[in-house]
Amino acid sequence: MKTTKQLDSTLKFKTKKRAGNQAGSFFFDLKLIKWQQLSERSIQKMSLSKNFIERDFCVVGAGFAGLTAALRLVQAGYSVIVVEARDRIGGKVWTKYLADGTPIDLGGTFLGPTQDRIYALLEELGVEITPTPIHGDSLLVYNNVVHRYGDDVPDIESHSLDGVWDVLQLLSTMSHDVPNDAPWTCARAKEWDAMSLGQWINDPVHKLSAPALSLLRTLFIGLFTCELSEVSLLYVLFQIAASGNDIELQMTVEGGAEQDMVKGGMGLVAEKMKEKIGDCFLFSSAVRQISQDQDGVTVISDKATIKAKQVVVAIPPNLADDIEYTPLLPSTRMELLRHMPAGQCTKFITVYDQPFWRQDGLSGEVAAPDEHLQMTLDTSAPDSKLGALMSFSFAKEAMQLAEMSAEDRKKLVLDALARRFGAKAAHPIHYFEHDWSKDRWTRGCHVAHLAPGVLTSYGHVIREPFARIHWATSESSPLWNGNIDGAVRAGEYVAKELIAMTRSTCSK
Ligand SMILES: Cc1cc2nc3c(=O)[nH]c(=O)nc-3n(C[C@H](O)[C@H](O)[C@H](O)COP(=O)(O)OP(=O)(O)OC[C@H]3O[C@@H](n4cnc5c(N)ncnc54)[C@H](O)[C@@H]3O)c2cc1C
Repeated sequence: MKTTKQLDSTLKFKTKKRAGNQAGSFFFDLKLIKWQQLSERSIQKMSLSKNFIERDFCVVGAGFAGLTAALRLVQAGYSVIVVEARDRIGGKVWTKYLADGTPIDLGGTFLGPTQDRIYALLEELGVEITPTPIHGDSLLVYNNVVHRYGDDVPDIESHSLDGVWDVLQLLSTMSHDVPNDAPWTCARAKEWDAMSLGQWINDPVHKLSAPALSLLRTLFIGLFTCELSEVSLLYVLFQIAASGNDIELQMTVEGGAEQDMVKGGMGLVAEKMKEKIGDCFLFSSAVRQISQDQDGVTVISDKATIKAKQVVVAIPPNLADDIEYTPLLPSTRMELLRHMPAGQCTKFITVYDQPFWRQDGLSGEVAAPDEHLQMTLDTSAPDSKLGALMSFSFAKEAMQLAEMSAEDRKKLVLDALARRFGAKAAHPIHYFEHDWSKDRWTRGCHVAHLAPGVLTSYGHVIREPFARIHWATSESSPLWNGNIDGAVRAGEYVAKELIAMTRSTCSK
């Protein structure tokens, strides 16, 4: 087996300069490669490739982290190529449009206070926001009974749910001891990383009733899309610290992380970024292999082989582990990637000729802890006369729905909505569903979850580059980790790091 240094030193290329911000890039001439010096696997992949492309930087993945990194690098005058497995940009943000232009957000949708980087990006791109509609009473469904309430969550089966808010408050307080940029360094890191959130919550000291435990499970699977036994207490405290030390911010509409939506759909933001980045995209071209040596990196994707000075891997950790790296990644990084699975969730959108629930004084917000469809919110677009309800199924229940036929699943969803909002809810004019866990280029949901022991064993390498390989996904952000804002921060952070590194190298 030849080394990557030998590989790179044999790459000869024609200098075919391109215009605009791609000046200085080259198309390699395939014929000039000394094939005998490439590994067998490289030959196999390269023979599939039509092009060799050279850029300053290669960004793998056109989600919000990759797009932001590419935008900042292009704005700083570097040549960039973004290589994307799908035939579209946005990653976990995916907006479809109805014939009348009404946006349907099948992935990331909401924004809220303190998510400053995404708001700044919207301003830069000239994109407007609109408040998430939330006026009226909310519903809590438990044991087949629909409880309607205004400000105060009602008792369930004569059990007060106050314990839920006490536990959330306690977690928020504990999160102050966890530094969001280095949670593994906190004084009680080992102790808190040795237990799961489930173990901690089920401790009798909290004196929680069955409905309270059930509601807490729903609130947390809505964040982590896995069982509470699968996620470390320290990781949960880090997530709270990363979103302003108040867990309720993550879960609320007014004043919380679901406060605003983007007019025109979140996908519009990705489109505007793409326009600014320019003609630098290679679509439907999954990256399979990344090799590096002292001269640069070689990124082998389905449609092209790219030579760059540095590469940004802007794909979720569970997928980053699929790429073959030469030389192999350091053991700690490899273990970290292998221990960052991403949960189960399916999102449903039902569209009606009007938001009829508002006439009944309902906000559209529902929590249903013991049902398959655990959450619903009104996501009607402000400029449309249509009404839209967004519902989620998470964790075990999402897996059960995934095993049903499409017809049975749709019936279950519409029956649940009809019990909440009346018979009209069973007759949407449009019905969408997307199981993100089965989507090849996500294979999970919002965010990775870390089991007990992972953060303290491997977490410290989360933002650590491996020579020419840099990492940027929402999961690498110390703030709003797992959110769109976190992805933007991760992209900006890595772009800054690369620009600083390149400038300091040049000045030496
Ligand atoms: C259903 C759902 C609802 C959500 N709701 C919200 C919300 O309301 N608010 C919020 O802030 N966040 C929300 N999120 C989370 C938010 O969408 C994500 O945190 C954010 O979009 C992640 O961006 P990213 O760039 O880190 O990763 P991704 O969006 O996953 O982007 C990674 C990109 O890499 C590509 N890729 C993968 N493998 C390869 C490969 N081998 N080669 C080339 N390309 C590859 C993928 O196709 C993808 O385009 C939600 C997520 C989901 C799924």
